[in-house]
Amino acid sequence: MRVAKSSSFFLPVLMIVSAFVAVVLLFPPIDASEPVLQDEVMAQVTATATATPQAKNDQFQEIKKEIDAKVFMYHHIGPLPDKADDIRKGLTVSEQEFEQQIKYLSEQGYKIMSFAKLDEAILQKQLPQKVVVPTFDDGYDDNYNYALPILNKYGATGTFFIITGKIGKSEYVTQDQVKEIFSKGNEIGSHTVNHPSLDKYRGESLKNELIKSKETLEAITSSPVISFCYPAGKYNQQTIDVVKDAKYKYAVTTKSSLGVIDLENLFEIPRYRISSGRNIEAMLR
Ligand SMILES: [Zn+2]
Repeated sequence: MRVAKSSSFFLPVLMIVSAFVAVVLLFPPIDASEPVLQDEVMAQVTATATATPQAKNDQFQEIKKEIDAKVFMYHHIGPLPDKADDIRKGLTVSEQEFEQQIKYLSEQGYKIMSFAKLDEAILQKQLPQKVVVPTFDDGYDDNYNYALPILNKYGATGTFFIITGKIGKSEYVTQDQVKEIFSKGNEIGSHTVNHPSLDKYRGESLKNELIKSKETLEAITSSPVISFCYPAGKYNQQTIDVVKDAKYKYAVTTKSSLGVIDLENLFEIPRYRISSGRNIEAMLR
């Protein structure tokens, strides 16, 4: 009885549904409506397809004339020698302070990277929103002993500007140390052969400082050297022209940074001078 009751209810419903389906099959929607439907579907598909990369792109900066990148200038990292004068003190950041800075930057979401890595990120249009480029001038062996392990610990990299004529001399990195710094993902940049004031150099002697040092470092790392640092921040237009001719892509000065890099002026990149006691938090605010 129950079966009969329910079928007596469902049978008419089934017939109505079948009739509706038959009508739809016999009289499909007019052709003109199809492209509209397709367009709508395509619009939705496109919206979905572009939504994902857009969301992802929020992690990255738009590559415009000025990019947001803070370039830091360090010299010595590590303990002060016994008879350190004021100049040496001014050029030194202790390993504890350096680690605090790298830790703070990491916690604040900064990506700490070399110019070589910055260059890749710009080309791939995947430059993180917050970037710090730590640079180390002169190639002191304390950079290898103290800065390198701390950078490694935080998955950070930096650019080390080496004076090639000083490699292996007392207080400076050796060739093997340069190789190891490079093998940990850091960049090796040139800081000339003899660290002269380049604004007073011209012709062959200028070329020699820029090209010879580049060739020496490229031989050590088996990789192109694209970054350069003007000794004591001294340069003029002629220096810039020869730096360009020597196929460098980035050159740093000692001018004070405002936190951005002008992509149309990559041969005069300003930097934040980091000396002992500098309050990074206040500096970046
Ligand atoms: Zn220097």
